[in-house]
Amino acid sequence: MPVSQQKQLDFITFIQRLLVEGDFVATYKYALLHAIADICIEQPLRDDPNYELVIPFTEIVEKFVILYWQHAVPFSADAQVDESDLLIKQNTGKQAKIISSLFECQNNNIKNTNQLVKSEYWSGIKRDTLKTLKEGPLWRLQKLAKQDNCFLYPHDKTVQHITLKPSIAFCFRRFYDLVVHLARSAWVNKIQSITANQNILGNQTQLHDFLFGVKRQTITKAKPILLEIQKDACFYCQKPLNSNRKSSDNKASKVEIDHFIPFTKYANDLGHNFVAAHSTCNNAKRDHLAAIEHKDRWFEQNIVQHSNTLNDELSQYFNCDAQRSESVTSWAYQIAANNGARLWLGGKEFMDCIR
Ligand SMILES: [Zn+2]
Repeated sequence: MPVSQQKQLDFITFIQRLLVEGDFVATYKYALLHAIADICIEQPLRDDPNYELVIPFTEIVEKFVILYWQHAVPFSADAQVDESDLLIKQNTGKQAKIISSLFECQNNNIKNTNQLVKSEYWSGIKRDTLKTLKEGPLWRLQKLAKQDNCFLYPHDKTVQHITLKPSIAFCFRRFYDLVVHLARSAWVNKIQSITANQNILGNQTQLHDFLFGVKRQTITKAKPILLEIQKDACFYCQKPLNSNRKSSDNKASKVEIDHFIPFTKYANDLGHNFVAAHSTCNNAKRDHLAAIEHKDRWFEQNIVQHSNTLNDELSQYFNCDAQRSESVTSWAYQIAANNGARLWLGGKEFMDCIR
C-alpha cells in the first residue's frame, strides 16, 4: 500500500514541530535527526514503503562520530590561545564530551574517522557516545513542548536499537534534503546562540541577524507606548513590569518587547504584533504561539482598543496595518490547530490548540 499524502504531510509537520517545540540544550538532537536521515537513505530500496527499519544503536554511534568529527577541529588558528579554547561549543553548559574526545584523537594524529575506527581510541569513544545517546537524545528527540510524542519510533529502552514506524523510513528518504537542511540550519543557529561561541565566531554571528533578523534597536521603539497601554503590567502574566526600576535590578524584572506571533513563524515587524513582557515570560514563550486566552487579550488590546494609538506612535518605525496583523495571527493559529501544535500558557505550561 502506498504511503498516503496525509501521512507524508504529517511527517513534515512533525519534523517542523520537533525543531520548533523541542528543547535543545545541546546539539545532539540535531545530530540524531541527521543521523537517522542519513541511515535511511543508505538503505537499499524496498518494495514495501511501509517497512519498519531497524537501526542498531552502534550504527547511530558511528554516524555521530562522523558528523561531529569536523566540529572537533579548532575554529581558527590562533597561536596566542590554547587550541581547545577555539573549539566550538555544542552545549550551553560545559563542552560536549564527544567533542573533547574527538579533539584528543585528532591531537594524537588520527586523521579521519576511518583511522579512528581502527585505532585504540575507538572502543572508548564508542562506549561513551553510546552512553550519551542512551542518556539523552534518543528519548528526548521526540519530546515536544515537554511531552513525549513517539511519531518516528517507539521508546523501547530494553533493546539496543530503534525501530522506525511504518513509512517513516520512506518519508526520510523522500524528504531527505529538506530534513537535513532544516536540521543543519537549526544546528548552526544553536551554535551561534551559545554565548561562549561568540568570541570564537566573531562577527559572523551577526551576519544572519543582519540579513534576516530582528533589528533590536528598532524594536525598543515600541516599548514606551506598550508600557503605557499595558499600564506597566506584563502582557502574559499581568504582573507589574516595574519598568522604572534601575537596570541594576535583577534580570527577572527586565522588560522585553515580544513578537506576539513569533518572528520565526512570520519574519516581519508589524507594529500591532508587539507586546511588552517580562524577560522571563518572553524567554519561556520562546518561539511558541501563546495560548488562546493570550490571543484574545492581544486582539482586545492591540486591535480593538489601541489600534489607532499604535498606528500613530509606531508607523514611523514599523509597518502598521491592524488588518494584516489580524490576518497573520489567524493564519498562525489555524496552522497551529491543523498541526496539533501545543500553545504556551505561561512558565512551563502548555495546552492543546483546539480548532
Ligand atoms: Zn510576566
